[in-house]
Amino acid sequence: MKKETPFFPDWMACPACDRLHLKIPLQRGQVALCRRCGTRLRGRCFYGPDLPLALCLAALIAWIIAISLPFISIGISGQSQTISLPSAVLTLFQHRMPSLALFVGLLLILAPLCAILLLIYLLFFLRQNRKPPFYRFFLKLFAHARFWDMTDVYLVSIFVVLVKAVHMAEIHLAYGFWAFCLQVFFLQFAFAAMPVRDIWENLSQPPLPPTPLPGKEARKAGLAPCHTCGRLHTLATPSCTRCASPMHARKPQSLNRTLALTLTALILYIPANLYPIMIVENFGQSLSSTILGGVILLWQDKAFLIASVVFFASVFIPMAKLLALFYLIICVRFRTIACPRDQTALYRLTEFIGKWSMVDVFVVATLAAMVQMGRIATIEPGIAATAFAGMVVITLFAAETFDPRLLWDRPSQENDAHEPACL
Ligand SMILES: [Zn+2]
Ligand SMILES: [Zn+2]
Repeated sequence: MKKETPFFPDWMACPACDRLHLKIPLQRGQVALCRRCGTRLRGRCFYGPDLPLALCLAALIAWIIAISLPFISIGISGQSQTISLPSAVLTLFQHRMPSLALFVGLLLILAPLCAILLLIYLLFFLRQNRKPPFYRFFLKLFAHARFWDMTDVYLVSIFVVLVKAVHMAEIHLAYGFWAFCLQVFFLQFAFAAMPVRDIWENLSQPPLPPTPLPGKEARKAGLAPCHTCGRLHTLATPSCTRCASPMHARKPQSLNRTLALTLTALILYIPANLYPIMIVENFGQSLSSTILGGVILLWQDKAFLIASVVFFASVFIPMAKLLALFYLIICVRFRTIACPRDQTALYRLTEFIGKWSMVDVFVVATLAAMVQMGRIATIEPGIAATAFAGMVVITLFAAETFDPRLLWDRPSQENDAHEPACL
């Protein structure tokens, strides 16, 4: 190993298990997977940056239409109300529900717009093989915007709203909603075609002839990959030479932080389930329902599919996620002999399903924004709505601070190949 090179452009370490792999050239449409744990390492989009760029431009047009046109309209006892996404945020603010207004504004309007604009900017330069000005800052910002974009979750929430309000009101989906569906479809497609790590890789020089490296794992070879962009460095390097993020062999204080956040989420889980999530006032009659109460009502109405969706999203997933995080913490702390490959798969699943618990929060936010009709009918969020939303956000952070490579920090026996498995 040459001493003067602080980084190794021809190698990469798996972000989930630390296994070292050679960066072999990929065919169009090919994906490189970790030989040990199966995590996706990098890929090459079949159509290059052109396809995701076209999808982003289509998503931008759909976003503008979704924001400007009416989204959904509701009719109760002869009185009707139409809302658009911005007017929903405004209504929630005016009726003193700032936390819900913030969730809708940030997660459903601002985050997707930022993600679309930033991806267009980055891809525009990428297809000309140029580095975009300030790309370090904008690419990190894009990763955050992508993380907080929850428009796909909101689509499920709309279907729950339709079923929940079927006895109480007449609901029509307007053009804005259909444009919103297209925006979600285009943007998710673009995200899948161009993951953040692949953009970092595309911004670098093509790999040089490989330098030989000792060992199979980055840390054992005295190396560490950057947490943000994945570039491999020597352990002594203080900050990444590509994206300037601080370098660590493992995420600092990963176990303690994950444990603290998981415990906080567990505490919030109690009021989220005990207190009412939604309070409906209909001609002076007040009816409040908890999360589980809402599921039972849907079941009694014979909306079995939607009742199951809400049960899974609001009761089962949060509990399963908390249990999974506790289990992973115990696995690392007590160095269990169970298969780390399965534990890594469990971690990836936990990371993936986290945001889908927001379904019920968006249902309450949409109903509260739509049904503000004075004496005829009003819908207000209960204490549980804020507690529940807080719990979901905290579990997202908990999964983010957990370092799955800790699961692999133990002696293992396997072959010495350095080429990734290719799909
Ligand atoms: Zn791996
Ligand atoms: Zn970096």
